[in-house]
This record gives sequence, structure tokens and C-alpha cells, in this order.
Amino acid sequence: MDRLDALSSRRFDLLVIGGGIIGAGIAEAATAHGLDVGLVERGDFAGATSSASSKLIHGGLRYLQMGDVRLVREAHQERRALMSVVAPHLVERLPFVFPLYTDGPHRPWVVRTGVLLYSALARAKLNGRVSERRALRLVPQLNTDRLHSSALYADAWTNDGRLTLANVRGAADKGAVVANYAEVVAIHGDGADVLVDGETVGVQARSIVNATGPWLDRVRRLEDPSAAPSIRLSKGVHVIVDGGTDWGAAVTIPHDTSRVSFAIPWEGKLLLGTTDTLHDGAPEDARVTDEDVRTVLEEAAVAVHGIGEVRASFYGLRVLPGGPGSTVNARRETVYTTGPQGMLSVAGGKLTTYRRIALDALEHLGVRNLDRTPRPLPGATGLADVRWPLDLEPAIRSHLLHLYGSLATEVLAPAVDDPSLLEPLVAGRPDLRAQELYAREREWARTAEDVARRRTTAWLAGLDSIHGEAIHEADRTARP
Ligand SMILES: Cc1cc2nc3c(=O)[nH]c(=O)nc-3n(C[C@H](O)[C@H](O)[C@H](O)COP(=O)(O)OP(=O)(O)OC[C@H]3O[C@@H](n4cnc5c(N)ncnc54)[C@H](O)[C@@H]3O)c2cc1C
Repeated sequence: MDRLDALSSRRFDLLVIGGGIIGAGIAEAATAHGLDVGLVERGDFAGATSSASSKLIHGGLRYLQMGDVRLVREAHQERRALMSVVAPHLVERLPFVFPLYTDGPHRPWVVRTGVLLYSALARAKLNGRVSERRALRLVPQLNTDRLHSSALYADAWTNDGRLTLANVRGAADKGAVVANYAEVVAIHGDGADVLVDGETVGVQARSIVNATGPWLDRVRRLEDPSAAPSIRLSKGVHVIVDGGTDWGAAVTIPHDTSRVSFAIPWEGKLLLGTTDTLHDGAPEDARVTDEDVRTVLEEAAVAVHGIGEVRASFYGLRVLPGGPGSTVNARRETVYTTGPQGMLSVAGGKLTTYRRIALDALEHLGVRNLDRTPRPLPGATGLADVRWPLDLEPAIRSHLLHLYGSLATEVLAPAVDDPSLLEPLVAGRPDLRAQELYAREREWARTAEDVARRRTTAWLAGLDSIHGEAIHEADRTARP
């Protein structure tokens, strides 16, 4: 059955609109609770905000500053669940050095007390003060001019695009119909019209969830043309530069008493950012400007010297539930609203807490007997005894294990008969051609960009195309 037939041939219990981490997480949780689910995504899965985050699975030290102890505690609980059960291959522990400069915005004792409380909520042993020597061992490019002292704490990092995809896969493995490049264009009492492969198909569903992130209000208006705006958008720009391979920790860089930015060793590069500026127009009108890049680099230079060459930049749009005030201090809470025809809209939240948001959404939909116990996503079990079908360099093995978990053997299986699949996908990255085949056959990739940006890490090679097909638009993450 093709995807058009699969979408139109039955009445779903739940239609999820939006294939970012929130929609994918809801689809996974709903299928695990026995619901028949359809998931439709206008672009590629994780093609918008959910591959443009800071890639941190974290409690959020700055939320303590805002007095939000509950939010921090919940986020730490989720981090532990992701690291131990849900996706231990994709979510890895990362120490953070918080340098305190004599001319910085914080008093050292305030930060040290905050870090102690944060670490207590995290149930982490790593906390407190660290010597300059140790800080430099962890972060060789740390700027030590006017350094008063440094604090150390632990959080975790991930590959956000692949975490989203693992949820899509989890839903599909349990029977959900999932379709990328499938856009909801109308909503009616009994379901929605979806534009897929050039045709509009009617999809019937008992319930609908709108998990379209920055497009939330646009989709709300498909149900209720008079729906008032409910969210604001804030643009966050990241810059990727060479470096970070010899770093053992990330750096948290304080700028004022409520805002920090990060320098994070990520996939063999350094990820710097992020900015936080109100975005007033349509989501697809956002751009990375030269000034954004300059700001990110200048802010990183407060704590990092010898910053390497810029390889890429990208933006994401934070969804802040409406209301006046600065975007920096706006609460990153999730808001659930139900429209006149019963569509549930889910606004705001964090990558870190996606599982909790998904379960709360099911609760809002009236699903009974919710099981909040963490469940492993596909690839998350059997990590200690993966049977590799082929001899591979340790660096490539650990790259594949990180991206696919125990499903790495499935990715490699065709290479047993076709050794050309063990060739690099692009020069300078550990990704293999076998991954492209897997992405297209098993992970719904349709374009070279889907493969390079969200299934593998090939885009970090800084190429514009593979096999002549464009792979990345460095300054865009949203699609028109
Ligand atoms: C700069 C930045 C840094 C961040 N860093 C972190 C971090 O380090 N840690 C953390 O925990 N959180 C972080 N976040 C928050 C986190 O990234 C987001 O909360 C999360 O990705 C939101 O996911 P989403 O599914 O709601 O939205 P999205 O990922 O934007 O997904 C919405 C999807 O809906 C689709 N869509 C829109 N209209 C339609 C339609 N009509 N039909 C079908 N599909 C449609 C879109 O194409 C899109 O893919 C960050 C956010 C930003 C912006």
C-alpha cells in the first residue's frame, strides 16, 4: 500500500500534525498506548526547530536563576530517563565549565551556590569549583584572562534530528502511518485534508493534535479562522566552527544575570550559540544575518580564544506562549489549548522534556491508564553486545553506535555483500555510504539534504551537494 492509500484508507484514532520532536514524541507515545496513529509532516521530519537546537539535554541552569526549581527538577528527571533507558546511545553525558571572570555579571558565590543546587537536583556528583589547570585540561581554548574561578557541572548532549527520527521510527514500528512531505491544508470536523505527492487526500481521525511549533497559530486558523495569536517567536542562531576535538567539556558563557551562551564540542566541531531575539514575521521569513553570526562569535570570544573557521550557521525559532515582556525571561513552559472542533494545540516546551509533553498531551486527549515508565526507542537496547558483521575502525563503530544504537548492524548488513557501501559518504566525515542507503530505504529520506543534515552528519563537511544534489542551506532550517 502506498502512503497515499495508507493515509486515506482508514479512520485513525489520532492524527498528529508536525513531525518535530513534539509531534514524533506524541505519535510514539500514542502508539505505545494502543492508538492507531497517523503522523504527517510538511517538510522532512525534524526539518525545522528540532534539528536547530543547542543539542543539549539539560535541566537548564538559567531556569534556576528565574526561580523555576520545578522545571529544572523535571528536566533532570527526563535527562536521566533518556540517558538510562529511552535513548542511551543518543544522549551522552557532558561536563560543563562555567568560567567566572572578575568583570563578569555574576558574583562567584551566587554561581557556586546555583551549581550546587543544580547538581543536587541532577543527583550528580560533578559540581563545585574547579582549578584553572583542570579547567584548561577540559577546555584547552578557555580564555583565562581575568578568570576569577570556574565552576563545573554535568548535563548531556544529543543529535536532535536523530532523536526525533528515533521517535518517528518507534511510532512506525508499532503500526503508525508516518508521512513526511505531507502538509495539512484544511481541517474539518472529521479529520484533515493533506497535500501529499501532489494530491490532496482526506484523512479521517477521531482526534487531532497540532504540534507544528512555529506554525502553531497558522494551523489553529485552519480549524478556526478567527483564532487569535497565541504564541511569539524568538530566533536563536548557532554557528559551527572548526575545533573542539580535544575538548572534554562544554563552556557555559555568562553574558548578563539571566542569559548565557554555550560553546559545545559536537560531532567533531564546535557549536557556538545561541542568540535570543524576537522574530515578528512569518516563520519562513527568518534568516541568519551577518550581525547574528558576529554576535555569536563575539559572545563566544568572552570565554574561548583562537576560535576556528566558520563552517555553517543555522537558526531555530523558539515558541514562547504569548504575552508581553522580553523573550529572554519568557517562561519556556508548554501550553495546551483545545479549538472549537476539538483539535489540541501544543505550544512551547523543550527537546529535553518532549516525553513528558507527549504524555501530558495524551492526558489532555483523555487517554486513560497512562504508563509514564520510560520505554527504549528503537536501537536503545543491547548496546553492550552489538555483533558487528564487519571489521570497522573504532571511530566509525562508535559514530554508528551513537547515531543508530544496536540498529547499526541493520545499517551495515547490505555492506556484507557490497563493500562499496563502506566507502565514506563524504570526505572528512565518519559517515558511510551504507547510511545513505539505509536513510532512503528505512528512514523516509527523500532528498540529499534529508540524508546529509538529519540522518547522517555529512553536512558538517561543509559541502553544498552530494551526487550533485544540494544538501544544505546553511542559513535556513525552516521551509517555505
Ligand atoms: C535556538 C534554539 C535552541 C534550543 N536548544 C535547546 C536545547 O539545547 N535543549 C532543549 O531541550 N531544547 C532546546 N530548544 C527547544 C527545542 O528545540 C524545541 O522545543 C523543539 O525542537 C520544538 O519541537 P516542535 O516539534 O514543537 O517544533 P518543530 O521541530 O518546529 O516541528 C514542527 C513541525 O511542524 C511542521 N508543520 C508546520 N505546518 C505543518 C502543516 N500544515 N502540516 C504538516 N506539518 C506542518 C513543520 O514543518 C515542523 O517540522 C531550542 C530551541 C531553539 C529555537
